[in-house]
Formats: sequence, structure tokens, C-alpha cells
Amino acid sequence: MGAEQVRDGFVELYGAEPEGVWSAPGRVNLIGEHTDYNDGFVMPFALPHTATAAVARREDGVLRLHSADVEGGVVELRPADLTPQTDGNWTAYPAGVVWALREAGHPVAGADIHLTSTVPSGGGLSSSAALEVVVALALNDLYDLGLQRWQLARLCQRAENVYVGAPTGIMDQTASACCEAGHALFLDTRDLSQKQIPFDLAALGLRLLVVDTQVKHAHSNGEYGKRRAGCEKGAALLGVDALRDVPYTELDAALARLGDEEEVRRLVRHVVTEDERVERVVALLESGDTRAIGPVLTEGHASLRDDFRVSCPELDLVVDTALASGALGARMTGGGFGGSAIVLAEAADVDTITKAVEEAFAAAGLTAPRVFEAVPSAGARRVS
Ligand code: ADP
Ligand code: MG
Repeated sequence: MGAEQVRDGFVELYGAEPEGVWSAPGRVNLIGEHTDYNDGFVMPFALPHTATAAVARREDGVLRLHSADVEGGVVELRPADLTPQTDGNWTAYPAGVVWALREAGHPVAGADIHLTSTVPSGGGLSSSAALEVVVALALNDLYDLGLQRWQLARLCQRAENVYVGAPTGIMDQTASACCEAGHALFLDTRDLSQKQIPFDLAALGLRLLVVDTQVKHAHSNGEYGKRRAGCEKGAALLGVDALRDVPYTELDAALARLGDEEEVRRLVRHVVTEDERVERVVALLESGDTRAIGPVLTEGHASLRDDFRVSCPELDLVVDTALASGALGARMTGGGFGGSAIVLAEAADVDTITKAVEEAFAAAGLTAPRVFEAVPSAGARRVS
């Protein structure tokens, strides 16, 4: 939605002009899956879908929140009274950011906020991070806090982990805060060092499709916990802080040392090879060989399916069908057990691939997937 509409919405709601309008995007992860809790590498890029917020400061200790996308009108809170995990509603995300800023010693007295978002909610595209980051950036600007983007991302992660109570890594908030148009973000989740990598698909006649399978298998949370625990066990058995510390060149020796721990061996092999794939994708993109990343994405899918075992029939169907109809590469993206897959393809092949995937889903008796193009877009910014 345009900045003007959000500004008008604010005026109608609060009877005064906002001090500005900000936006922050959702994201897709290109490569680097289940690496973030192993201190490894990820490589997200920002979507054109954004949360947009009109904001004005208040000095009277009141925080007013409104989303155009949610029933229930304006919610009024007092920043001084905010307490973690007491709010199960959408307002916990923006209020959590105010809480995290204040807890870190930043003098955020209050604000009026009106927002709306085009990031699909709950679809694995990080609508929650978009909501947090747009509020954090607006308050950083208005209260002149001088925080850098990566610091805002850390505070937003803290808001989500501690205030909302959702255990998430640092990727989503960093992507929303730091991505640049035409680039993917190479992020080291250990020290948060980052590098913008050219990823301008349109200029090369390429497209990246997101295929949302619309399924979410119920056991995903428990399985996520098991994978995490298995990775920790692997690191402990190998005597390293995190699997990130197992060099790719020493993988075979490390796997041999795991003896009869077959489960752990598979998890370790995925994480170590996935970090290597991220580095390979970075090298290919930096050398301008963008098409060559396709097979690396597909390798990543095989590793997630066979070694890490977090794929599902619907995600495999997208990947197999896309590859059989001419895609350069395809993989599941996000945690797995449902959610979305990404497909890299020549622009000329997009219609054929989309149709083939839709037909394959229909033939399997599955709900039609939602397919859209993901253009690597700008990170959070002030828009008016
Ligand atoms: P994801 O981040 O993958 O989209 P989450 O479960 O982490 O999924 O976050 C979704 C939640 O974020 C929603 O349940 C809602 O509370 C909040 N949210 C997302 N978009 C909006 C919006 N436009 N207005 C209000 N709340 C929103
Ligand atoms: Mg989220």
C-alpha cells in the first residue's frame, strides 16, 4: 500500500498528521537452511511485500497501536507497564519493540502508530519481522536513537524471543533491516558480519518463483526441536562450539568420528555441506555466474530431504515438477514440513513451470499452491 494511503489512514484515525511513514519488507531465504542455530551462514533477500507504518511521537507515556488488517480498532498501552508474554495478540510485536528499546535504555516515551502490511501472514515470509523492523526504524529515526541497522535487528529479535515468546534466529529481522534491492544478503549468524551480493535477476532474464504449498504439517515444532538437539549433540561429540566450526575439508574425518551415531551423522553432513553451498553461491554470484547457482539450490534441497529430513511430499512435488519442466534449480525454503519452495528459472519458462506445478498438485488431489514472483527488493526505509 502506498505511503499516502497509510498517512491518510493515520490522520483519519488520530486526527493529526504523522511525523513520517516507514516500510520494512518480508524475506525469502535463497540458501543456508537450518544453519542459523549452528552459527553458520544464511543468504536471504527482501521481498517487494512490506509492512508500512505511519508514526508520531507522544511524550505522555501512551502507546497507541492500530493495524488496518486486523479487526478491533486502536489498542492503547502504557510503555512503562509492558511485561513480556502477557499479550497474545498482534500488538505484542510492535509493543515488544518498544519494550526492547526501553529495556536497552532508550528513551521511547510513547507513540501513535498506524500500520498495514502486504506480507502474507504466517506463510513463512516473515510478516512478523517486517512488523517489528518497521516500528523499530521509525522510533530510531523519531527519537534520534542513532542505532545501526544490525542493532535494530538484534532488538527486534529480542522483542520476538522474549516479549512475544517465539524462539527465532536473527535472520528474519536482519534481512528486513539490512537487505538492498537487487542483492541477496550474505550473513554470518555468528558475528553478524554481512555482505551485499549482486542478485539482479530481471537484468539477466531470470525469475525466482515462490511456491507456497499452503500446507503446514502439525509435527513441525517438535521435529524442529529434535533437529536442533541433534545438531548440538553432533557439536558436543566433535568437541566444537557449533557445527559451523567443522571445516568442509575435514567433513569425512568428522563423520567417521561419529561412529554409529547415524542420525547425528546425517544432520552434521547437512549443516556442514549447507554452509559450503552458501559460500559457493556467493562465489558464483560475485563472479556473475548467476545461472550456475541453480544446481547448488537443488543440491541443498536433496540434503534437506535426505539428510536433514525436513521436507515433505508437497515440497518435493514442487521441486521435482519444476526441475522436470525446465527450472534451473529449486529447493524448499524455511524450516520445512510445509511452507514454501523457491524455483529459479529463465523468464521464458515461468508459465510452463507454473502450469506444470499447478497440474501436478491438482493430479495429486492437493489444494492449489500460491505462486508468485520474488524480486530482490529494498530493506527497511523511510518512505515519506
Ligand atoms: P510469519 O512471520 O512467517 O508471517 P509469524 O507467526 O511469525 O508468521 O507472524 C505472524 C503474526 O504477525 C500474525 O499472527 C500477527 O500477529 C502478526 N501480523 C502479521 N501481519 C500483520 C498485520 N498486517 N497486522 C497485524 N498483525 C500482523
Ligand atoms: Mg515470523
